[in-house]
Amino acid sequence: MSEPDTAEPMSATATDVPTTSDAVDAPLLEVDGLRKEFGGVTAVDGASFRVAPGSLTGLIGPNGAGKSTTFNCITGIHEPTGGTVRFDGQDVTGLAPYTLAKRGLVRTFQIARELSEMTVLENVMLAPPGQRGESATRAVLPGLREQVQEAEREVVDAAWETLDFFEIDHLAHENAGSLSGGQRKLLEMARVLSTDPEMVLLDEPLAGVNPTLEEKLLDRVDELRRDGLTFLLVEHDMDVIMRHCEHIIVMHQGQVLAEGDASTIQSDERVLEAYLGGDV
Ligand code: ADP
Ligand code: MG
Repeated sequence: MSEPDTAEPMSATATDVPTTSDAVDAPLLEVDGLRKEFGGVTAVDGASFRVAPGSLTGLIGPNGAGKSTTFNCITGIHEPTGGTVRFDGQDVTGLAPYTLAKRGLVRTFQIARELSEMTVLENVMLAPPGQRGESATRAVLPGLREQVQEAEREVVDAAWETLDFFEIDHLAHENAGSLSGGQRKLLEMARVLSTDPEMVLLDEPLAGVNPTLEEKLLDRVDELRRDGLTFLLVEHDMDVIMRHCEHIIVMHQGQVLAEGDASTIQSDERVLEAYLGGDV
């Protein structure tokens, strides 16, 4: 494979530390030389990494390292200033969130104000459609009405199933706005999962979540992985990252500083320095 363009000196990555994700033969997600500038601020500065299918990969780094911006560039919220994003072997750089969702690549969103006035069940039913190509081909005229009714039933059934899976089915008829912070996080997860995704990006899904719900959420992630889903997780809680992620990518100042498994990361002095460096 060709090297990413290295026009600028990249002192932080100039060592021979094994970059494990280079060894992923068929990555589901491949980010190459990603850049994002906001006016004079370079939020992401040539980040490259790969995510193996079926993995739970952690993306960590001090505040301001560029993690959220990276997520936003991958999922079409921001258009990258440079670099490429490949998903499932295809160049998806700059595609709109809706298009990416149809292909199976989604991120969680905070429940918007309008949606907080709808019920939990409605929220899950309203999530963007899945990509599995059911509806369009089925809408042939004869028997259309029955088919529409059947499709609606399926949406409702699927929504209940998702709520049940996250154990928030007892809240189905509550307004989303009345949920606790932790329950809301479960609903955010339920919403993206109802789109039948292949890969889910989670940006601090445990913020404000109590330990019981946290366990529940992490259990669900593990269960979904067994079903073949792929996760990329940004999380502050190092303990969670080290215990649950088999591969960890460390960002610092918009670049990938190090990556590897938990023990590799924990013994990497540059990682320690980045966290202690106080670039916050
Ligand atoms: P992290 O999620 O790792 O804390 P971010 O991606 O949020 O980091 O931010 C990286 C850098 O980009 C920070 O310096 C931040 O202030 C800046 N930044 C992020 N979003 C914007 C924006 N919309 N406009 C201007 N600067 C931004
Ligand atoms: Mg962030």
